[in-house]
Amino acid sequence: MTRALLIVDVQNDFTEGGALAVAGGDAVARGVSALLREHGADYDVIVASRDWHDPTGDNGGHFSAQPDFVDSWPVHCVAETSGAAYDPLLDTTAVTHHVRKGQGKPAYSMFEGVTEAGETVAGILSAHGVVTADVVGIATDHCVRASAADAIAHGVHVRILTDLVAGVGAESSEAALAELAHAGAELVDSPGGGAASDGSAASTDGPGTTSDGAAG
Ligand SMILES: [Zn+2]
Repeated sequence: MTRALLIVDVQNDFTEGGALAVAGGDAVARGVSALLREHGADYDVIVASRDWHDPTGDNGGHFSAQPDFVDSWPVHCVAETSGAAYDPLLDTTAVTHHVRKGQGKPAYSMFEGVTEAGETVAGILSAHGVVTADVVGIATDHCVRASAADAIAHGVHVRILTDLVAGVGAESSEAALAELAHAGAELVDSPGGGAASDGSAASTDGPGTTSDGAAG
């Protein structure tokens, strides 16, 4: 069975000390590195995305001096800056495809991005005959949510490794996980997991509530 790991936006601006820091981001970076060290060989394809915004303009209304933290955000992940770099706690050695997204516009899903060679995530998954995709990264309630939803729509079996995601809001993260479970995602611990969990997205109880209409 061909399996992919999708690593969403584990970047300096989204982890502790970053412009748009998400609590638990460093733990996710550490936990994903451990997963790759111990189970990297289980994956045929390992895709990592980076939010990669233009240094000029507001990137299609994505940046705002008065952000609402729903559709607009403080400046973050500007291309070629340290904020846009992978968190150094994430070991990217095993990553097979690096995807960048958000150049001049908002892009929550890694499926909106491309590699340097112009490949899309959908194209990569199809080309490799991927059947199952494990999803990890930041943020549960935004880019993980959108990326996992697109993976489900692409037709692969999606598993969210719930101890290896971190969200902006506890409630919105719960809602995102419930929504993804309702859409067909499996919510599971990483193999040997739970170690990186800080409780921010610890529930694996499945859908209790659903949420529609949110941004992303
Ligand atoms: Zn962004």
